[in-house]
Amino acid sequence: MDSDASMHRCLFIFYKVADMKHKLGNIVFIVLVILTVVVWLVFPPINDGREDFLRTYAGEVLGSLLVVLMSFSLFLSTRPKWAEPYFGGLDKMYMTHRSTSTSAFLLMFVHLLVVPITTVNLRLGNYLAMIAFLGIVAIVLPTLAPRIPFLNKLTNSTYEGWKKLHRYIGIFFIAGYLHALNIDALSAFIAINWTQIFFIIGVVSYVYTEFLGGFFGKHSPYVVEAIKHPNNSTTEVALRPKGKPIQHTHAGQFLFVKFLGDKSLNESHPFTIASAPHEDVLRITIKACGDFTRHLFQNLKSGTEALVEGAYGMFNYKTGGQKQIWVAGGIGITPFLSFLRDLKADLSHHVDFYYTVRHEDEAVFADEIREIAKQNPKLKANIRFSSVHGSLTVDEIVKNAGGDVSGHHVYMCGPLPMVQAFEKKFVEAGIPQDNIHYEEFNFR
Ligand SMILES: Cc1cc2nc3c(=O)[nH]c(=O)nc-3n(C[C@H](O)[C@H](O)[C@H](O)COP(=O)(O)OP(=O)(O)OC[C@H]3O[C@@H](n4cnc5c(N)ncnc54)[C@H](O)[C@@H]3O)c2cc1C
Repeated sequence: MDSDASMHRCLFIFYKVADMKHKLGNIVFIVLVILTVVVWLVFPPINDGREDFLRTYAGEVLGSLLVVLMSFSLFLSTRPKWAEPYFGGLDKMYMTHRSTSTSAFLLMFVHLLVVPITTVNLRLGNYLAMIAFLGIVAIVLPTLAPRIPFLNKLTNSTYEGWKKLHRYIGIFFIAGYLHALNIDALSAFIAINWTQIFFIIGVVSYVYTEFLGGFFGKHSPYVVEAIKHPNNSTTEVALRPKGKPIQHTHAGQFLFVKFLGDKSLNESHPFTIASAPHEDVLRITIKACGDFTRHLFQNLKSGTEALVEGAYGMFNYKTGGQKQIWVAGGIGITPFLSFLRDLKADLSHHVDFYYTVRHEDEAVFADEIREIAKQNPKLKANIRFSSVHGSLTVDEIVKNAGGDVSGHHVYMCGPLPMVQAFEKKFVEAGIPQDNIHYEEFNFR
């Protein structure tokens, strides 16, 4: 086996182990949930002889699980970079955030159905329970049911409106916990203190995310050095650090940025870093698709101050085997631009690269891609205009790759429906699920 192939074999095994690592975060969360039930079973509350003891006991176990799950969600919203390898990237962390939040939300209803409800001699704890319940319902339902008009009013039907509403969730988490301390609860010293640990993690996470992040260097100051418009709906922004640059460790990562001095641009949005890690400016390429990105296209000026948070993400072709397929749809080209601009020496992987857009003028940086492909014989770049060449299909990609793709790794970024449809077809074509990697341009 020549040295190149043995080097790739070692890298491949190293990343297989890394794959397991990506699952560790979710495994730890599941273990902690099971442990919470075990703690309540091994250290049960004292039976004080009350008539509805069992229902109260079950209700308190469910309440405790609620606190544990919500503390996971609040912890993940702090965007802990050190935890990314254990979830497979921030976009995957947001998926866990979404599932722990939804599970907590549904469990809240089960808790409500199980606990004995009293309507007389109401205590502070009962009022806090109502506040917590109604608050969480008002915040979560617009997320789960964006099509319920009156709920959408709460968010002006915008993502930003939803994000702003979301920021109050911590207050109702605290109200929920205080409710537990102000009702006629069972005495369960160990189980309640176990739950308290998660309550504290949740509150500290919430305060950090909403109030303290800035003080802990979460944001780095940058200035807009240059702006280009590669076509009539895309903006390329070059950002130069004013102080210590963010850690941009590998090509394919993304950042959060907000621009100061313009109210419409002073909100944090995620964009992939399209430049290579060795460049001394960060370049992001932005498609105008909503209120923030359209306003940016028309109004962002050089010299504007910006606050950047990052870099995040584990989308990295170097984690895969030697034979690869890259698929970029529309603005999903940005992580691949970073991969290509990062090529210092010849590309060591064999890559069939497909970049598909509807019309030719949407293909930003096509000449640059073709130029890089000319210099890298192992990179086969196919730039497709579906209005001319027809839609790109997985069958065609598999045929071009020689038919047997069972050993290939696939990297995709683009509109979610396209990525999910291609993923299904690639699996049918024999590519193992773990060999398919994609970056979601949507956390919600
Ligand atoms: C990891 C990642 C990398 C991305 N990289 C790029 C890129 O390189 N180039 C590019 O053009 N776009 C990229 N996007 C998408 C970009 O963030 C959205 O298009 C942009 O935020 C839209 O904002 P808007 O107000 O113009 O549109 P809106 O109409 O408000 O939002 C359109 C959609 O964008 C998403 N979105 C909006 N605001 C936010 C936000 N603050 N945080 C997270 N998602 C939001 C929501 O899914 C929303 O449904 C990326 C998204 C993610 C998650």
